[in-house]
Amino acid sequence: MPQAQHDILVIGAGIAGAAITQVFLQQGKTVRVLDSGPKPASGTSAHAFALAHPGLIRARPLLRRLTYIAFALAKQTWQPFWREEGIFQALKPSTEFNESLLNEQLVSAGFDQDAAQPLRASEAQHLTGVSRDGIWFPKGATINLEKTCTTIFSQQDKLTYEANTIVTSISYDGVYWQALDQKGRLLAKAKSVVLACAHGAKQLVAGLQITLPLKPVRGQLNQFQISATSSWLKYLPTVVISGEGYCLPASYDANTKRYTLVVGSSYDENETSLAAWTSSDAHNRQQAASLLNYVDGNLAELNLANSFVGVRCVANDRLPIIGAISSMPGLYFATALGSRGVLWSALAAAIISEQVQAQEAANLQGRLSTSNQASTAALARLARLGLSADLVAAISPVRFLAGALPAALASNSKPILPLESKAK
Ligand SMILES: Cc1cc2nc3c(=O)[nH]c(=O)nc-3n(C[C@H](O)[C@H](O)[C@H](O)COP(=O)(O)OP(=O)(O)OC[C@H]3O[C@@H](n4cnc5c(N)ncnc54)[C@H](O)[C@@H]3O)c2cc1C
Repeated sequence: MPQAQHDILVIGAGIAGAAITQVFLQQGKTVRVLDSGPKPASGTSAHAFALAHPGLIRARPLLRRLTYIAFALAKQTWQPFWREEGIFQALKPSTEFNESLLNEQLVSAGFDQDAAQPLRASEAQHLTGVSRDGIWFPKGATINLEKTCTTIFSQQDKLTYEANTIVTSISYDGVYWQALDQKGRLLAKAKSVVLACAHGAKQLVAGLQITLPLKPVRGQLNQFQISATSSWLKYLPTVVISGEGYCLPASYDANTKRYTLVVGSSYDENETSLAAWTSSDAHNRQQAASLLNYVDGNLAELNLANSFVGVRCVANDRLPIIGAISSMPGLYFATALGSRGVLWSALAAAIISEQVQAQEAANLQGRLSTSNQASTAALARLARLGLSADLVAAISPVRFLAGALPAALASNSKPILPLESKAK
């Protein structure tokens, strides 16, 4: 049932919605959040072990720049939840360790020595417990997405959060965006609406003649228990290891006298099943053996304890979909976060809060066709964060509007493929 008017309407209470909600609450705005799930983070953000990885040194320049900026924003945005314990990025086993080349690549990617250090397998063994060549990123972090969302949506002041509320369509009356239920009844309205509902955004904008090329990519993460007498003990990591997937530091439970290893993830394109698969268990056991450089290890000693399964929302060019469409003032997108929910959610909050501010300023000045001026003002402020116009355009939903993208920016919408293997 519609209640008091809010400044911002957010659809989706995962990590994207949490970042958006947090930034607007910090600005003193009132926020209303509608989510179809029974509690916050009941979608893919029901994830306790998400990595915030600063490094992607062999990625294309555009993705590298975005990652670099988003990492800095994520660290600020998620500060209370940020566990900065470092991440060791293992080189592919086939890659030769060339320290000076790696240092050159790191410097050109913007990392100074404090932020990234190449390590030979022998040095890595000492620091990480794992004997592999790679790069140590001491500022790499993990966050618990579920806990973060739960904390943010439990705030009372200026926030109205509604669970079990499915938005079936949205419409615009020239001033307000309206969220409607299946029977066309008004659920909520506001001048600004943010679609932070992952795959759900596709249906909501279909009625506006926007086609979002989103696809589901299922992922499974496993917790394995290892007995204190297992030969795996010599290979367990003391820090997060990333490479072909990732692995968290092993934790020891004095009661059960067992170690727990969290390993992930499978990357199953066009799959939506939330059931745990034995094929993914097997895949993750293999990942563990490869990441920890114990390929002869007995996989049966990795005893299945638990699984997390989620479905990533991925755009066809693998970039997130973030920001406004100037022809539809007040409509904002924060979706397609793929495998980088921690980073892209923070980026979305930074971009959308600037765009909303610029749009509100334009509205206040009473100009009727000021969307382009609003966009220009927002771009100028975003440039101060390092987010130049080409970066903002590359992730804008505008790239999916036929013929809407200026030719000069069109090249940025080419597929940007991830650095590593498909498993993330
Ligand atoms: C196995 C696995 C490992 C991962 N590891 C990492 C990692 O290490 N680091 C990292 O950064 N990311 C990681 N990710 C990705 C990360 O989990 C996601 O990018 C992130 O959770 C997506 O957040 P979201 O808010 O966009 O979507 P969601 O968390 O899915 O939230 C969307 C919300 O919208 C709601 N909704 C949808 N449609 C509607 C509607 N019509 N009306 C109302 N509400 C609606 C849903 O109920 C849901 O709560 C991983 C993902 C998986 C699956």
